[in-house]
Amino acid sequence: MSISERPFASYHLWSLVAPAAGQQHLHCQMRRGFIKARQHEPQVQALLAKVTAPQRIGLLAQKGIYEFHHNRHLLNQSDGVQKVAELLKLAHSCEEVQQRVLQILTKYHDEPLLSGKRVILLTRGDEGFPKPIWVEQKHYSFRLYATMDCVFIESTGALHILDFKTGKSTFDRRQALVYLVAARYLYPRQKAVASFYNLEFCKKSDLISVTRGELDFVEFELASIAQKHQEDLQKYQQQNHKFSQIFPPNPGYHCKFCPFNSICEFSTFKAPQKVQH
Ligand code: SF4
Repeated sequence: MSISERPFASYHLWSLVAPAAGQQHLHCQMRRGFIKARQHEPQVQALLAKVTAPQRIGLLAQKGIYEFHHNRHLLNQSDGVQKVAELLKLAHSCEEVQQRVLQILTKYHDEPLLSGKRVILLTRGDEGFPKPIWVEQKHYSFRLYATMDCVFIESTGALHILDFKTGKSTFDRRQALVYLVAARYLYPRQKAVASFYNLEFCKKSDLISVTRGELDFVEFELASIAQKHQEDLQKYQQQNHKFSQIFPPNPGYHCKFCPFNSICEFSTFKAPQKVQH
């Protein structure tokens, strides 16, 4: 089995396979099909390459935090926000992105969450795909991908994995669980906890920690997701005319916000036609 054929799992895949609690009615397996099975088709590739304003805000906010901590004097300078905005080339973004990112930088400058912490990892957010973690157990094996925004050491010696959020997105506990599974391989000697922090609302989640047994269970769940997805990909490779059976659509109001609504034959949302002058 080549590396690319080995089943893989990530929080992103988990969220595409199974909805978060209470989100069943918005969940569509066909989106997973477009993202993970048809991603090399030119039309799909072009849609995936589009960066939405919320994605851009998330990326620039993460980069901004990175710049503050790699140019620490900027946290103490009155024009620190302006300087970071210049490093981010924020002026090249649209008005909405500029305004919201400036607000995020200002709030962080006023109350820098990581100040005084022993930070051992802080990513810029544009590093690309992380290296896989090889999970090898007696009954399963898969590649695990987990990109951590930030890791610091608590005063107790525990690792704290922190995920930055922007916008109104809710904290999904599953993401923290994936980080904690990754941490047991990346930092096997240390106890780990995880949490989320919304940079726009300065809102912290509760600390998330689990027992060894619970982590085993999550790891097994990830192995099942990896296996199921791998089987779906193989089915699609063998019978690509069965796309909608392998990745069943769940059309509804949410199609309006789906990046594939322009190419999905099941979409209930039709973009208004441009008027030709
Ligand atoms: S447009 Fe609707 S049915 Fe089609 S993939 Fe997106 S959410 Fe699913």
